[in-house]
Amino acid sequence: MSDYDLLVVGSANADLVTRVERRPGAGETVLGSDLVVHPGGKGANQAVAAARLGARTALLARVGDDGHGRLLLESQRAAGVAVDGVLVGGAPTGVALITVDPSGDNSIVVSTGANARLTPADVRGAAPLFRAARVVSAQLEIPLATVVETVRALAPGSRLVLNPSPPAALPAEVTAVCDPLIVNEHEARFLLGDPAGDEPRAWVRGLFALGPRSVVITLGSAGALVAEGPSAPAVLVESPRVTAVDTTGAGDAFTAALAWRLSLGERLVTAAAYAVRVGAAAVTRRGAQDSYPTPDELPAG
Ligand code: ADP
Repeated sequence: MSDYDLLVVGSANADLVTRVERRPGAGETVLGSDLVVHPGGKGANQAVAAARLGARTALLARVGDDGHGRLLLESQRAAGVAVDGVLVGGAPTGVALITVDPSGDNSIVVSTGANARLTPADVRGAAPLFRAARVVSAQLEIPLATVVETVRALAPGSRLVLNPSPPAALPAEVTAVCDPLIVNEHEARFLLGDPAGDEPRAWVRGLFALGPRSVVITLGSAGALVAEGPSAPAVLVESPRVTAVDTTGAGDAFTAALAWRLSLGERLVTAAAYAVRVGAAAVTRRGAQDSYPTPDELPAG
């Protein structure tokens, strides 16, 4: 019996948001609304999403020894995430500086800060967490070398779920163990270079050519395309219809839910049928972590 269903290895950021009449141009200063600070970062989002659903979840991440770092630790603890693996210090906490104009368009500057200091040695130091988790979920807001080390640290019998976001070229050593590789349409296009056609179903074969064991392409309101292996058919798992208010963090909620259900032994298609309900619930409320549902808040499948 594992201690954790899910170990998330990834980023933790403070999202600093202010609303402006107009986003500033070069050399310009504009006044913004009162600052709102949200806990964010793909790793932190996934850990909160999973824990809120009931997953026994641990997070391996790095934050700064500062107020933002304490905010992030507190939001993880409040959701029930084990934070023994959250390392503190080395650089300021990662921050996303976000200005939003009245049309909803935004400009974002990310200071990766402590996320860039989550090192391969930190992964090696977390060996007990890897031994304790059935499924490990990673993304690319931390150094690629750290993701490579995460693959090397996987315990026998454990499973890697990878969302390559922000998209970057992946070494074969990483893609070979992805089970699944989870991409949205934008990430799929990046990994495929210049994919033939606009039909995601036609991209599945190209994604398998990169070497993953299974593939999921998320399709926003349409749900997700799921292929359990290179010779298995791609199955469309439809998302429940909801009124979308804010899609921020929907992909992180989907991935966390999928990874957790896989840790319970579900088949990929079955896990995806649960994950689309979690993604759909997440778009019905504002924010990322603030929008994540508990099981009783999920729409019917
Ligand atoms: P990302 O946030 O990474 O771009 P997607 O937009 O594909 O990812 O969304 C991930 C999942 O969230 C989808 O597979 C779906 O289940 C759910 N989702 C996203 N947008 C909507 C929507 N408008 N209506 C219903 N479900 C949605």
